Amino acid sequence: MNIILFGPPGAGKGTQAKMLCEKYNLLHLSTGEILRNEIKQNTELGKSVKEVIESGKLVSDEIIIKILNLAMDNSRQDNLSGYLFDGFPRNIDQANLLSSLLESLKIKIDCILLIEVDEPILLERILSRKMVEDRSDDNKEILASRIQVYSQETEPLIEYFSANHVVKKVDGVGEIHEVNQRINNALEGF
Ligand code: AMP
Repeated sequence: MNIILFGPPGAGKGTQAKMLCEKYNLLHLSTGEILRNEIKQNTELGKSVKEVIESGKLVSDEIIIKILNLAMDNSRQDNLSGYLFDGFPRNIDQANLLSSLLESLKIKIDCILLIEVDEPILLERILSRKMVEDRSDDNKEILASRIQVYSQETEPLIEYFSANHVVKKVDGVGEIHEVNQRINNALEGF
């Protein structure tokens, strides 16, 4: 099974993605997580994206495609049952790039999953996540920029994909296990 996960920052994508990947034996392709690891390890790549991430803007498509290809290549031998794209694609150019990548690899997306959460709750969640994860882009000002980028560049992709794909929308408000149950219900039959 191959899934693309959408949702605004703070919707709980990372947490739900991990649970889904375990359940369905999928590779969790989180471009944000890969970039955060690069920053943590202080690599050249990490240094080059730190400022952009801390402004809440998008990293260049070129860098994103490079890290994505690498992560997919490294997973070839892993006997996985599919991919879960989390945080990619983020704009129309990335969506087009993903479509051609999937076509060349003969991979079909089974479902587009959208976790929906209203803005005031996103801020609450981001602020409490900051206490636990200490993400440098989790604060009120950067969140506003991330939400703006999401609604202008990423959210329109739901419409883009809905032409040829099944889109499942899930209410992301509630406890982790409740949201997880809704997602499992939405994915029944795939
Ligand atoms: P995330 O963990 O998905 O919320 O991503 C954190 C940050 O990493 C984003 O605000 C962007 O600056 C950067 N990022 C992650 N994925 C992408 C992507 N697909 N395209 C561009 N920037 C990205």
